[in-house]
Amino acid sequence: MDFSRVDLSAQDAAFHDRARAFLDLHVTDEVRRRDRETGDNFDAGVHLAMGAEGWLAAEAKTGEPGGMTRVQRRIWDLEKRRAQVPWVTGGTTVIVAKSVEQFGSPDLREEVLPRVLSGKVRLCLGYTEPEGGSDVATCKTRAVRDGDQWVINGAKMFTTGAHNCQYVFLIANTDPQARKHKSLTMFLVPLDTPGIDIQGIRTVDGDRTNIVYYTDVRIDDKYRLGEVNDGWRVLMEPLSVEHGAVDAAADGLGDVSILAHQGTMMATAADRVAEIAARPGPDGHRLLDDRSVAYRLGRSVARIEAALSTPSLFGRVAIAQAMRDTSPDLMDILGSASVLPIDTEGAVDDGGAEYIYRWAPLCGIYGGTLEVFRNMIAQHVLGLGRPNYSPPAAARAG
Ligand SMILES: Cc1cc2nc3c(=O)[nH]c(=O)nc-3n(C[C@H](O)[C@H](O)[C@H](O)COP(=O)(O)OP(=O)(O)OC[C@H]3O[C@@H](n4cnc5c(N)ncnc54)[C@H](O)[C@@H]3O)c2cc1C
Repeated sequence: MDFSRVDLSAQDAAFHDRARAFLDLHVTDEVRRRDRETGDNFDAGVHLAMGAEGWLAAEAKTGEPGGMTRVQRRIWDLEKRRAQVPWVTGGTTVIVAKSVEQFGSPDLREEVLPRVLSGKVRLCLGYTEPEGGSDVATCKTRAVRDGDQWVINGAKMFTTGAHNCQYVFLIANTDPQARKHKSLTMFLVPLDTPGIDIQGIRTVDGDRTNIVYYTDVRIDDKYRLGEVNDGWRVLMEPLSVEHGAVDAAADGLGDVSILAHQGTMMATAADRVAEIAARPGPDGHRLLDDRSVAYRLGRSVARIEAALSTPSLFGRVAIAQAMRDTSPDLMDILGSASVLPIDTEGAVDDGGAEYIYRWAPLCGIYGGTLEVFRNMIAQHVLGLGRPNYSPPAAARAG
């Protein structure tokens, strides 16, 4: 792995200043406070400003004429992270826009893509259902053809950002008699269509997601992506991107794993705990002078560093597992005041470790659970064969 620093050209340094100035102007304390309050992980004002000033278009054309260079893109991504730009809906929009570009009809592309670049259109993911999400293909939401239209009925769980989006990338069953992966069709459903009901859900870490009900939702065939019953093909790439099942960029100008953002937040929380632990109290005593504190802090920092350096699917698992394992240690080191959340008077590290503690379970669920990723690594990367879920006796016999 190449850990060398990148020397910025004068042009890149100017880009860096411009990106930082833009983000400092728009991503204010008020934006961050509001985002914590709503749990939206999206700010319309910031997103529209990014569209109006051409950042979204330049980002979309990375490596192409008129777009950001690879170095500039890396600067932009790291600066967004530093500024804590609310990021989830921007991320799902980028993923889905690629599929619209690849599989949408010319009409649909024209309707959607220019407004994605202006920030006016946002896109969310409608895969998971109330009865299960790990096996996306066991989809029960039905789409039935009626002439040039489709009628959709069903429910989707955890459609994050739906209330801030204009379209949902929806997987529906269009042939219940067919084999699982041949029964699915992808649609880009306008969220203002009659029959759609979006209801908010708050998760334990404060994020807002949604359950979305579809009752006799009627859309034109132009909102179909790809061929009928060939939705699995449309879904493969966006799923791989969301899983982080892609190699790290060869030029080193990218995150080594998909949960790098979460990993950085965890590392920042640990740094803050280390700083507090090294500070002498009124009696000159430091928390770090206690050897068990030093041991648990050192162990946490080592786990975090290792997780941050681990690539691809392995890194995803390492980061989510390190969040689960280190956050209780970090809270213990700080003592009982560490249970006070961010923005609470008396919160010893402004709630950093406590937030990681509440966030950790979610990071091991969304986009696929830790168990599922461990199985994927075992089966597809290490070649250990398919997992057998039969009861132990039957599994031995098989
Ligand atoms: C905060 C949040 C945001 C989300 N955002 C979105 C979104 O925007 N769009 C969307 O479509 N979905 C979203 N999801 C859903 C997410 O992708 C699913 O929760 C996830 O895929 C797991 O599905 P499930 O919750 O239905 O659990 P299930 O699939 O019901 O699994 C239940 C348990 O069984 C285990 N399990 C299941 N299958 C296997 C297997 N093959 N091997 C081993 N263990 C297994 C799981 O690990 C889990 O412990 C979000 C979830 C959360 C928590």
